Amino acid sequence: MAKTKKYEIWFLTGSQNLYGEETLQQVAEQSKHVLEALKKNVSAPVELVWKPVLKTPDAIKRQMLDASADDNCVGVITWMHTFSPAKMWIAGLDALQKPLLHLHTQANQALPWATIDMDFMNLNQAAHGDREYAHMVSRMSIARKIVVGEPTSHDVASHVTAWAYATIGWHTSQNLKLARFGDNMRYVSVTDGDKVSAQMQFGMSIESLGVNTLVDGVAAVSEAEAEKLCELYEREYDVVPELRKGGARHESLVYGAKIEIALRAILEAGDFNAFTSNFEDLGDLRQLPGLAVQRLMADGYGFGGEGDWKTSALGAILKSMTPAGGGTSFMEDYTYHFGPGPAKILGAHMLEVCPTITDQKPRIEIHPLGIGGKEDPVRMVFTAKPSAGRVVCLVDMGDRFRMISNEIEIVEPNEDLPNLPVARAVWQPMPTLAASAEAWMLAGGSHHTVLTNSVSNETIEDFARIAKVELVNIDENTELRAFRKELQWSAAYHRLAERI
Ligand code: MN
Repeated sequence: MAKTKKYEIWFLTGSQNLYGEETLQQVAEQSKHVLEALKKNVSAPVELVWKPVLKTPDAIKRQMLDASADDNCVGVITWMHTFSPAKMWIAGLDALQKPLLHLHTQANQALPWATIDMDFMNLNQAAHGDREYAHMVSRMSIARKIVVGEPTSHDVASHVTAWAYATIGWHTSQNLKLARFGDNMRYVSVTDGDKVSAQMQFGMSIESLGVNTLVDGVAAVSEAEAEKLCELYEREYDVVPELRKGGARHESLVYGAKIEIALRAILEAGDFNAFTSNFEDLGDLRQLPGLAVQRLMADGYGFGGEGDWKTSALGAILKSMTPAGGGTSFMEDYTYHFGPGPAKILGAHMLEVCPTITDQKPRIEIHPLGIGGKEDPVRMVFTAKPSAGRVVCLVDMGDRFRMISNEIEIVEPNEDLPNLPVARAVWQPMPTLAASAEAWMLAGGSHHTVLTNSVSNETIEDFARIAKVELVNIDENTELRAFRKELQWSAAYHRLAERI
């Protein structure tokens, strides 16, 4: 983790040799200008890279093979500035293994009404050139995003930005390695699933390590190393007096620090970017990892409790798509406020909520955990900051995976929660709690989710399209009768599509 990756998106302009050298020179110049204009407003952590104008089938295929093989290239944008006969693109499109965005644009915004002549018409042909190309992409059933508009448009840039984040998520998914400490919680269904299918569809590798790997790692951490991390905790968080150096229960914080150091070392050594734990399977570990999980999530690791590898993987993917300063966390629908006033969900977990979703300084506290039969675990306690957001899950429906995303409004709790010893978020789901919960359960959604206050719904939609995974949206427009039909049609489509 922590290593910063240099992501590139390649900008490919299509044409053909028929136009002659002078026109093709203008095409090249204008396509550079279009990209420069786009760059000004695209705000994802990717570099948009201009590539020479493509004029022949061989050049197109070579460029697509290079894009597919390049480790830094996470996606390809195509634009047919002039007419680029689409049979020239078949082999290249067939070879492309990176996400595709088709930018339907032109170099100019307004038509030069008073001066337009056949030279201008000869040069600016995207209106029909892009349609010829798009026909082939549709005919080949290649998933792509189409963005239409002039290159200086903020609207165009925001759609490209949303997709650029999705390409980063897809890159994360393709390279994802997940460490499972212990197996699935006994008898639980939704956290289980087909890891082979997940690897085939998403690229993610789900690996079991056995909890002794962690137990041994914790035992190997020195007191001095753990005390040093405790000093950092005291600097960065509001640590309760009993856990501070010299406090009656400081030793519990030291043990929590040892868990963090050991976990981090194992994840780094194995190049993992997500993990799970299971409170039923802690071996000789003295505490359920709480604080350690929270701090690792804040550093970008995905996490799922009770062996929930799908939510953990989705967490790592969503975290990689989270704009700087945004918040994304493991979450669980815990308990309801049906009223008075608007109905709300109190979300939390036993311990493991990520502090990126709060603007409070977390308090590090220690309390008993009424489950698992271990020593009291240390944890950060805070409340999520109010924000629009969404909760997202990934479930295994047996014959396919399904993502479900529900728009939510994170709000302040109605009252202080002085006796609740865990980090939490309170939200109003769209369209209402009743309709959201009914829709979520009809769709088979999990009780574990990833909550994000900043990965846009458009990015999640773009990711789902790239991953070819079913996505069910629940938002302010959800109406149950139509929603039930949507699920039925969608099931029919996916069962047909996968059997062709
Ligand atoms: Mn849980």
